[in-house]
Amino acid sequence: MSDVGRCRKVNQDMFLVDEALGLYAIADGMGGHAAGEVASDLAISTLATSLQRQQSTDGVWSTEEAAELLRAALDEGNRRICESVLERAEWRGMGTTMVAFVLASDRAVIAHVGDSRAYLLREGGLRQLTSDHSWVNEQVKLGLLTHEQAQRHPMRNIVTRALGNQPRVEVDCLAEEIRPGDVFVLCSDGLSGMLSDGEIREVLESHGSVPRLACRVLVDRANEHGGEDNITVIVLCCAG
Ligand code: CA
Repeated sequence: MSDVGRCRKVNQDMFLVDEALGLYAIADGMGGHAAGEVASDLAISTLATSLQRQQSTDGVWSTEEAAELLRAALDEGNRRICESVLERAEWRGMGTTMVAFVLASDRAVIAHVGDSRAYLLREGGLRQLTSDHSWVNEQVKLGLLTHEQAQRHPMRNIVTRALGNQPRVEVDCLAEEIRPGDVFVLCSDGLSGMLSDGEIREVLESHGSVPRLACRVLVDRANEHGGEDNITVIVLCCAG
């Protein structure tokens, strides 16, 4: 589910749900003159086509294959955004985050760049799987800001890694075993910036087994808290 929020005129977030491939992703674009939408759209379409092209012959990717495919797809998206910037001067500075999830047999393989996140609710506990590539998170890691200060910091929107900013991009990849009852969430910072981890956990505890409803409640809560940015969320529940 994706929502423009209550402050922005346009929605620069894009998302992908491909049930056949087991591929799910969110891209949060940045840049004026419609460039943000261009960047997030390029990243998502490149991801979709490159994984469709590589569809596994036996229908199942190994963890290593899936990680390699995601890395290559994000790399290609980065390259395509960089090339587009050269064609149109008003697109200069555009970029996008990405968080991408693919099913590889009994594992979730997740790749990310920027501050779009993946969370896992397991047995009542919520864990953030990804580590934001953002200025505030770097300060948290250095012990210079607390988690709570980072959440409200005026520079919380500054990402330190994005697709489209450099000719080469470093992609972080992780694999997580999938267990019955697990609820995975992908989101843009329009959700995680408006809701605390505690609130996200509480909504998933109540509604995680009905993903569409969980998405609706999360988006509504983000808007109730101000809806300062575009809000995009994907909820995946493993039947248990
Ligand atoms: Ca955003």
